[in-house]
Amino acid sequence: MFIETKRGLRITGFVGYLDWAEVLVEKLNKLREQGSNSEIVTLVRNLIYIDTLARRCRYPEEISFRIYEGEFGQDAIKALKYAQQFFVKHNYSLVLEESGAQGWLERYTVPAEYHGSLPKVHKDTIVSGDAYWLPLAVWKAAVGGQLSRIRECRHCQKWFLSKRIRQNYCSAGCRQQAFRATPTGKRKRAAYMRAYRLKNPNAR
Ligand SMILES: [Zn+2]
Repeated sequence: MFIETKRGLRITGFVGYLDWAEVLVEKLNKLREQGSNSEIVTLVRNLIYIDTLARRCRYPEEISFRIYEGEFGQDAIKALKYAQQFFVKHNYSLVLEESGAQGWLERYTVPAEYHGSLPKVHKDTIVSGDAYWLPLAVWKAAVGGQLSRIRECRHCQKWFLSKRIRQNYCSAGCRQQAFRATPTGKRKRAAYMRAYRLKNPNAR
């Protein structure tokens, strides 16, 4: 993940592929458990919104231009602006630090106000220090094309990694429960229960 150096944050010794989407989903669910609705959540939601729009049009060139032209409505403009301004507003900056056998080392400088929130106790607990590096994990997931796998379950609101393009629920259970709540689902369920009672007259 990220380690703090004297000058900023650096990606630790993971060689090759790190599943940023997986890291993020885990952290987002921890934030959710804590009931904290931080700006990271807003950032991820906005990015996913734009990513979904773009994916539906098969990631055309100049999607940002089309969004700003208003083709996808005001919400899309707002979401894109938020995502694009986030790192600028928070004064994150990228530095190519030095060359290494696996490629150049990336370093991120982070604004002073985040320094006070560095993880002090334990690097894996979700403490305020996550405010410092979580946006960078979002950045890596976005640049690495892993955002489209991150979803928020439409039923229980938990974050999960989707396995299919059209997967809106984290589990079969959530999909079923959501379906039961729809008019069609309610009708089918009622019909099923009627048939069940006819077949099993002694069941309650
Ligand atoms: Zn769910």
